[in-house]
Amino acid sequence: MTEQSRIDIKSLTYEEVLSFVESLGEKPFRGKQLYEWMHVHKVASYDEMTNLPGKLRQKLAESTVYTALTQVECQISKEDDTRKYLFALADGNMVESVLMRYKHGNSVCVSSQVGCRMGCRFCASTLDGLVRNLQPSEILDQIYAIERATGERVSHVVVMGTGEPMDNYDNLLRFIRLLTDEHGSNISQRNLTVSTCGIVPRIRMLAEEHLQITLALSLHASNQQKRLELMPVANRYDIQEVVDACRYYFEQTGRRITFEYSLVAGVNDSEADAAELAALIADVNCHINLIPVNPIKERDYVQSSRGAVEAFKNKLEKYGRNVTIRREMGRDIDGACGQLRRRHISET
Ligand code: SAH
Repeated sequence: MTEQSRIDIKSLTYEEVLSFVESLGEKPFRGKQLYEWMHVHKVASYDEMTNLPGKLRQKLAESTVYTALTQVECQISKEDDTRKYLFALADGNMVESVLMRYKHGNSVCVSSQVGCRMGCRFCASTLDGLVRNLQPSEILDQIYAIERATGERVSHVVVMGTGEPMDNYDNLLRFIRLLTDEHGSNISQRNLTVSTCGIVPRIRMLAEEHLQITLALSLHASNQQKRLELMPVANRYDIQEVVDACRYYFEQTGRRITFEYSLVAGVNDSEADAAELAALIADVNCHINLIPVNPIKERDYVQSSRGAVEAFKNKLEKYGRNVTIRREMGRDIDGACGQLRRRHISET
């Protein structure tokens, strides 16, 4: 069998695994055991599934693909113990994932694609375009590999690494179902955040799934013209349409929106920008997360000063908005999206 025609076993739902194993002529409980090895014990290969008969393991190895990541690098921040991992996929492509340790638990930031085609001007992940989508298994593997490496459980997941999750929608949805499945990791939907640059039809589709996950919207500007300068996706979807879709997401799910706003000195960080932003999202039930832009060497964007960030926050608060300034974790370790992978590609 060719690699393509083989089943990606870790991307199958619980029910699909059970019926697949039955189709191999096995008893139903074998399917349950297999699912548990993959999504509860999170082992890296069939060889570790010690209570499965050798013949079944061999059958599985022949008829399926069992994805696993190879750790290429792990940078540990001296400031806050944030860990940034570079993993190689089976085909040699590389993805980044980040582990952040908070009081409320361990949070992992996963990538959803190899590269990205959205072209946001300040982002390192998009500089070489999109290579390919990640499979649901490959998104899960990032979490599982980190759990194995640290021996600690992950309780929160943010899809905020490289890639645009809404540009890989079907795999994203399957990933969400698997991650929150009671037979597997059983992570609460409320502990999962998906960040998007604003692909409007997909936001509306996701809203209609009625999940309890948090939608983070990368806004980064207070009007259409400024957003166009930073984010080419604004050519396709007007800022007003994006805000409408966010409102719809809240109506459908009851989940408060998170707006992400990266502050770039002299571009979008004035108090007038803050006032315009407050008006733009005046009737959206939301939280605003300000991120001092992380400069990348390929672009000459400059981070807003501490004072400008504080003034921006104060202005929004005057309008009664709920605002936080993103804690910059792991700044000493190639913090910005895609920088670690890029460095590695250019070295080799
Ligand atoms: N494609 C998705 C998720 C990946 S990026 C999205 O656009 O939301 C996660 C967040 O980091 C986004 O808000 C993105 O705009 C922001 N980001 C990317 N590069 C950055 C940088 N250099 N400095 C600050 N924020 C950045």
